[in-house]
Amino acid sequence: MLGKTIARLLFVFINFAFSQSIDTIQLNTIPMGSIVKTHLNFGVDNFGVPRTIPVLVAKGKTPGPVLGLTAAIHGNELNGIAIIHKLFDTLDVTQLSGTVIAIPGLNPVGISDNTRDFKQEGDLNRIFPGKKNGSYEK
Ligand SMILES: [Zn+2]
Repeated sequence: MLGKTIARLLFVFINFAFSQSIDTIQLNTIPMGSIVKTHLNFGVDNFGVPRTIPVLVAKGKTPGPVLGLTAAIHGNELNGIAIIHKLFDTLDVTQLSGTVIAIPGLNPVGISDNTRDFKQEGDLNRIFPGKKNGSYEK
């Protein structure tokens, strides 16, 4: 229970700490040897308020493969959020070859409601790869 509370607080803190938001992740604009923390836009809610999710990118000093990490695709499974943040706290981009892209809270609606599913479509794990003009889950 305490772990879930800490992960949820960490998620909320990260949402406030990241000041800008983007529509796409453009790796070529990120300097080699740097870490970027931002928000990715994914639509608006029923009040027209933009919805975003935190995104972390660590781009190594030298080129290499790209690793994608996500956590909390099920909004009531929060352990991965803290794990991703611990990884980014210890990553040394001067020693990294390649890029790590992480979305530590993939299901912000589920995290907020402490539920497994997203609102309209249910389980995000069942609707990959999504639809460009579908609901914002897709
Ligand atoms: Zn799960």
